[in-house]
Amino acid sequence: MPSTHETEMDWSFHRDHGLTPIINVSGTMTSIGASTVGAEVQGAMAAILPRFVEMHELQTLASKAIVEATGAEAGFVTACASAGVTLSVAGAITGLDAGLAERLPEHAGERPEVVVQSGHLCHYGAPITQAIALTGARVVSVGQSTHVQDHQLAAGLSERTKAAVFVASHHVVHYGQMPLARFAEICHARGVPVIVDAASEYDLTGFLAQGADVVVYSAHKFLGGPTAGIVAGGRPLVRAAYLQNLGLGRGMKVGKESIFGTIAALQQWRQRDTNQIAAAQQATLDAWRGAMAESPGVRVETVPDPTGNPLSRLQVWLDPEIAGATAAQLAVHLASGNPAIITRTHEVELGYLLLDPCNLTAGQAEVVTERLQEALALAQASGLPAVDLNDLRNRGTTGYLNWGGA
Ligand SMILES: *Cc1c(COP(=O)(O)O)cnc(C)c1O
Repeated sequence: MPSTHETEMDWSFHRDHGLTPIINVSGTMTSIGASTVGAEVQGAMAAILPRFVEMHELQTLASKAIVEATGAEAGFVTACASAGVTLSVAGAITGLDAGLAERLPEHAGERPEVVVQSGHLCHYGAPITQAIALTGARVVSVGQSTHVQDHQLAAGLSERTKAAVFVASHHVVHYGQMPLARFAEICHARGVPVIVDAASEYDLTGFLAQGADVVVYSAHKFLGGPTAGIVAGGRPLVRAAYLQNLGLGRGMKVGKESIFGTIAALQQWRQRDTNQIAAAQQATLDAWRGAMAESPGVRVETVPDPTGNPLSRLQVWLDPEIAGATAAQLAVHLASGNPAIITRTHEVELGYLLLDPCNLTAGQAEVVTERLQEALALAQASGLPAVDLNDLRNRGTTGYLNWGGA
């Protein structure tokens, strides 16, 4: 049975609490609880919860684990990657001056600036421009969405520039962008530190090797840790970012359980059997592919991750004239069933959805196979309910607006 986690499928928790059962074939999504946390990490979190610890000592332990995993000089754990971006930018602005850190987002003198390539101005559930602007800095975008040249970055840098942010993600434009090494070279020539948002990237060493001064990761994405962020980099900037916990970072507080859980997640990550995991994921993709091979109007392709993470997804193209449904209709139908099958629909208006095998627990791949076959048969027989693509595009916000509490 192909699976990437050892846990048996069990919906009693959801039933007991009146929560919708979910099978996640979308990837790591904040909206459905990020990732599942394995027994070792749970154990670490449970072990520290009933105890007092000196938090600076605990963050020193975290720093050691981060240094081991990334090759950085130092690191610490924060609330999430978005917090890590804010604190790193703030650290680049204030250095180790606690007075300046407490005053943010106000500044004594001129408003500091932070440069970002236009094609990197992404939204990961919130705009990255806001994560930067929380520090009081002005975001200066350089180049255009699909086009940036060296002189444009150089022209965006001035004596007001305190940092440059580079985003490595499927959320950003994938062509015409300046690669990190050149980006860092141009920034460093002007004394500007480079902060890389690599929240969802598996590569824990490459960005620093290419010239990043600080790299930020999510603990709750591929690492399978608790909700937290990892800041890794050169010691001066990491220390300045850490200092922000007495200012801006207070509203982004991370608990001892998440720090210790992140340490455990990093250790787990180093010990994982990558070949076994890759083989299980490939077997799942092959099974789904086989299950849809005979479905009219459905074309299936295995596609590599766009940023080079070592994983593949199944791209399911639907020809609505023949299949009886669009990819968006199939996605909404699968999500409205029980359990809800949440697919990856970032690009669904282009005619396909993606199935991500990374977050399945035992037995779930088979449920997805059955539900895909049922849905495609139903689409053939009678079509699927209409879907407004504008509703789908706006649902990240409508979910919040529709929430009314108890
Ligand atoms: C997920 C993501 C974030 C946000 O990460 P959190 O840890 O959830 O705050 C930021 N940037 C990118 C590129 C992401 O993919």
